[in-house]
Amino acid sequence: MKKIYLFANWKMYLGYRESQKLAMDLSKKIKTLPKNIEMVVFPSGLSIDKVKNTLPKVGAQNVYWVDKGGYTGEISAKMYKDMGAKYALVGHSERRHQFNESNEDVNKKMEAVLSVNMTPVLCVGETAVERKKGLTDNVVGLQIKKAYENISWNGKKMIIAYEPVWAIGSGHACSAVEAEKEHMKIRELVNKLFKIDPVILYGGSVRPENAHEYLSSHQIDGVLVGGASTILKSWVGIINIAKSI
Ligand code: PEP
Repeated sequence: MKKIYLFANWKMYLGYRESQKLAMDLSKKIKTLPKNIEMVVFPSGLSIDKVKNTLPKVGAQNVYWVDKGGYTGEISAKMYKDMGAKYALVGHSERRHQFNESNEDVNKKMEAVLSVNMTPVLCVGETAVERKKGLTDNVVGLQIKKAYENISWNGKKMIIAYEPVWAIGSGHACSAVEAEKEHMKIRELVNKLFKIDPVILYGGSVRPENAHEYLSSHQIDGVLVGGASTILKSWVGIINIAKSI
């Protein structure tokens, strides 16, 4: 049976009480998940501690690379680990484009996450302009190479989320056929660089209406979902589609 990864990025959509409520409602609805489905929730940093009591697989949406010190407002990978986060999104397009995170920053974050034994979920993807210019493979390839630069892969599961910037939060999802093409290229590159087969998720406007086309593809190991994962009915809908595959 195909292993399916369902990752829910709650972004900054839900406050502390809202996160707690959604976690409770979800746990009532889904009770147990089949073994082949791995669901991880990425709540806001403030809510991780609470959400993990209900939905134990939680991750950080972002980390800072220094363990501790005078970095007002930042939270380190080490601190998230201490709180119980097992995963961390690194290089999400909203971080890259709204907070000017560079490939070098992403590299430092990858290293920090790995150093505390959390699993990084590296997010990569091209903008609409880059796609129009035919630069998708170059942009994504460079993001991957830079993210893992000087990092000796430790044999852990490598997770990459292909999230075209133009598809995130826009309602214009990349078709499964197009996503598959990029997933194949990412897989080839990672095989060449690290001799391992990565887990590759698709992200960008996934909804219950289109989730089946991604989840049923052999090239797509799962989905990273933002908006739709914050709405009980939509997320349960996506989970049910995964169960049916
Ligand atoms: C995301 O935040 O990673 C994402 C894919 O968002 P959305 O599903 O809302 O497009």
